[in-house]
Amino acid sequence: MDLVHVEFNKMKLNRIQLILLFVCLKLSVVEVSAASVPEDSALQVGVQEKQAQVVVFAQSNANILEATVSVNAQLTNMSSSLPLPAVGTVSGANLYAPIVYLEPVDSRQPWNYNYQFVWHKGLPSSLELEPWIYQFPFAAGGQFSVSQGAGGRDSHQYGGENENAIDFAMPEGTTVCAARSGLVIAIKGDSDLGGPDSKYEQCANYVVVKHNDGTYANYMHLKRNGLLVKLGQVVQAGESLALSGNTGYSTEPHLHFDVYRLTASNERKTVPLRFQTRGGPVEALKGQFYWRDSSQ
Ligand SMILES: [Zn+2]
Repeated sequence: MDLVHVEFNKMKLNRIQLILLFVCLKLSVVEVSAASVPEDSALQVGVQEKQAQVVVFAQSNANILEATVSVNAQLTNMSSSLPLPAVGTVSGANLYAPIVYLEPVDSRQPWNYNYQFVWHKGLPSSLELEPWIYQFPFAAGGQFSVSQGAGGRDSHQYGGENENAIDFAMPEGTTVCAARSGLVIAIKGDSDLGGPDSKYEQCANYVVVKHNDGTYANYMHLKRNGLLVKLGQVVQAGESLALSGNTGYSTEPHLHFDVYRLTASNERKTVPLRFQTRGGPVEALKGQFYWRDSSQ
């Protein structure tokens, strides 16, 4: 649930409008703070204005190595340095990256803009995908049931961003293991907030691991202070990553696991999953228990 969709508006206002706006802002700030929960701060997207030039930028924090941002805008008497929606990437922690520049066509006339953005962890890839058999994302000898499978109606609906995700019901504090080797490109472990409400969507702790075919594994709802890996660490399949939890938008303690890739236009597409068992590869189906063999 790393999707952020925010809208901003900049207009030239007269004095009365400014006063009204100030009153509205004051009211809305009070309203927001009453029910607000922290956002995932791995990536900030904002605007800077220098004279009449506007830059929409992204800024990564110390917990993410790769992000892709798409920016759309509605312009009046302005032009964009890139066709819209513009897609930009951020490759590194604590990095500032301009995504797109907006400029008045005629700066003597009124100009304004609205913009919206969406960002995802990772970089776009068009590599051909070979089928892959994943290990179950828990320790050898462990056995857990699937509480929601691919296409699940709670939050894995077909056509959505999580259609091929699998939820494993597990008590908080269960060791989560890498389902496939890769590089840790994003982590969050500081949240203690969660519950059955979409307002907690941005509050999940997670580890994201990049695989060598350009896909990413997303291990989510982890326990606060439960991370066992660092950003930039190379992990082997089966290696411990974190302790499971119940943070973010979640109805019960579980691990949400999905593997996704980003398209050139920054769409998040999950891939269908199959897992190794003693009896051969299987899909993980709702209500079934799965055992990770200690020989795997
Ligand atoms: Zn899920």
